[in-house]
Amino acid sequence: MSVKTANEEETQSCANKLATYLRAPCIIYFDGLLGAGKTTFIRGLLRGLNFTGRVKSPTYTLMETYDVNLFSIYHFDLYRLHNPIEVEQLGIRDLLESQSILLIEWPEKGKDFIPLPDIICKIVIKNTNAREIDLIAQSDIGNCILENYSR
Ligand code: ADP
Ligand code: MG
Repeated sequence: MSVKTANEEETQSCANKLATYLRAPCIIYFDGLLGAGKTTFIRGLLRGLNFTGRVKSPTYTLMETYDVNLFSIYHFDLYRLHNPIEVEQLGIRDLLESQSILLIEWPEKGKDFIPLPDIICKIVIKNTNAREIDLIAQSDIGNCILENYSR
């Protein structure tokens, strides 16, 4: 399914709505150029899960963790990963527990070292403030979440 947003607030409310239907365990990959709005979307997701604190981009830390609503949320930004094996060292596979939600920016930098997604969120820049957001299910869990979202 595809959503067009005209500004940052609309992207956040799209993410907010998706948060309502999230379940765990779940892995979402974020695809899009620098500045497309991946972190903005993730901020909206966390707000939708009632997280009220600051959501920092894990550009240098590679990972930020949030405990909200009985979920453990792991936000990755792998842009600065030098070698895919580093993601193994972050222990990414050990994070996959029943309450885990993994949100991964730049998953391609982790190559085969990261688990497969349930949903791909692809954000395309249309112009300064317009974005097209495609949500693509990659598993039964992903399908279920997106069916509920678009119902
Ligand atoms: P990424 O994580 O993909 O590199 P960010 O979310 O950090 O991107 O930054 C997106 C930038 O684009 C922000 O400065 C945001 O204000 C701006 N922006 C403008 N229009 C939109 C939109 N429709 N959706 C999301 N972000 C937008
Ligand atoms: Mg980002």
